[in-house]
Amino acid sequence: MHCPFCGAEETKVSDSRLVAGGDQVRRRRQCVACSERFTTYETAELLMPRVVKRDGSREVFDENKLRAGLARALEKRPVDTETLEAALERIRQQLLARGEREVPSLQVGELVMQQLKRLDQVAYIRFASVYRQFKDLNEFRAEIDQLAANPDSGIDS
Ligand SMILES: [Zn+2]
Repeated sequence: MHCPFCGAEETKVSDSRLVAGGDQVRRRRQCVACSERFTTYETAELLMPRVVKRDGSREVFDENKLRAGLARALEKRPVDTETLEAALERIRQQLLARGEREVPSLQVGELVMQQLKRLDQVAYIRFASVYRQFKDLNEFRAEIDQLAANPDSGIDS
């Protein structure tokens, strides 16, 4: 952070505290070169990362698209809208927590699968079959076998 008075690069923090109910950090800084004091405020950047698709193109994170994908997988399954929204929120939080500007679409898909796995195994298999593009029935069966062997494996993720 350059000093706004003289442009020097080195400033030292003399005080640092949470403000705005903990959503912001206020720092008192002093320039090492000219001794002027100033204050900076830090907030978390709540911008969703851009999604890098398989072909390398980028697109803005589209929550509606993600919601539609989840809803499609959960169609006619005993999972209510509130639960779906909570899963969507967890995916959003996980993406934000990465703090990256870009995220491969593959990893978004993995996060979706983690959520579906704990919500509904049929929905999980539906999504996985489209998403992982199972090449044949054996791959599909392997996924189901794995799910049957570790039914709780999605709980902590
Ligand atoms: Zn200065």
